[in-house]
Amino acid sequence: MRLARSFSFSYSFSFSDRFDPEDWENENEQENENDLIMSPFTRSVRESVAALGEERLIALIQRWLGPVSPRTPFGIGDDCAVLPAAKGRQLITVDPVVYPRHFNDAVPARAVGAKLLKRNLSDLAAMGGRPTAAVLALTLDPRVSLRWLEGFYRGLAACARQHGVPIVGGDIAQADGTLAASLTLLGQCTGPRFVTRTGARVGDSLWVTGRLGGSLPSRHHYTFTPRLAEGAWLARQKAVRAMMDLSDGLAKDVHALTPRGAAVAIDGKTLPLRRGCDVRAALADGEDYELVFALARDTDGAAFLRRWRRAFPRVPLTCIGRLVPAGKLPAAALDLAAYHGYEHLR
Ligand SMILES: [Mg+2]
Repeated sequence: MRLARSFSFSYSFSFSDRFDPEDWENENEQENENDLIMSPFTRSVRESVAALGEERLIALIQRWLGPVSPRTPFGIGDDCAVLPAAKGRQLITVDPVVYPRHFNDAVPARAVGAKLLKRNLSDLAAMGGRPTAAVLALTLDPRVSLRWLEGFYRGLAACARQHGVPIVGGDIAQADGTLAASLTLLGQCTGPRFVTRTGARVGDSLWVTGRLGGSLPSRHHYTFTPRLAEGAWLARQKAVRAMMDLSDGLAKDVHALTPRGAAVAIDGKTLPLRRGCDVRAALADGEDYELVFALARDTDGAAFLRRWRRAFPRVPLTCIGRLVPAGKLPAAALDLAAYHGYEHLR
């Protein structure tokens, strides 16, 4: 792959005279309703992002985003977007989707846009936050098709509308051989408290929402629902001492919740497996986007579970194990080192 270089789209204005982007858009709206699966790339210059200058592309993006794109200066169109001062603590997170690591030709363009936002929402959920605004940095090969990009933005917009997230700004850079989008999400706490990954102690029990494993074959990696309501609820429970979302697989991620001098004792028989998955898949597949948290050791787990079920009757919650003193793993506990979670930049 060639090195990425960033420059303006204006070199390609000569192509843009040949058709009107508004005609193009109307013509394609119906087809997009079918949520076509397609390659992000096209051989036709006319159908590619290179056919449009930067200004026209930005105008199209605003149209695709629709109501989630506020007017300038509170949205796209100025050097910065202006936001009201936040009450209380703000949260901020950033996560990308990169072709072909986080999506490929088999993932609908709309789903890619939604996945980008949902990955970030999952991080907010993990701290008990709710979203307030987002900005998006896009790096595009000039051969990316406009039709794909429209699907991407319409999927992002639908998800943003659902979760009440204004998309207030962004940037477009061109880079040969690259298709990546990075979203920065701002949020705030939903209650008096945010929950971090630190704070768990030996003796605390470990719990996980939903089911684990098989996120690729089940398409869960882009169909998932971020656990925002669940995360906010959990952050209000003082007995929840530490929490995170699962992106790289439980075996790898759970170490971030493990305090010094402690070890994780997980009983493989209790893991909530997605249909068709085994223990290895649940521990190592990654992209589960579920919440895992440590519950204070003196908490009545059965009573906690009853309250959870009243609040979230359709979302499984499972006690998967406990934090034990290092070196004192019970014989039945899984050896997590044997299950290699998803490694970034592997
Ligand atoms: Mg995370």
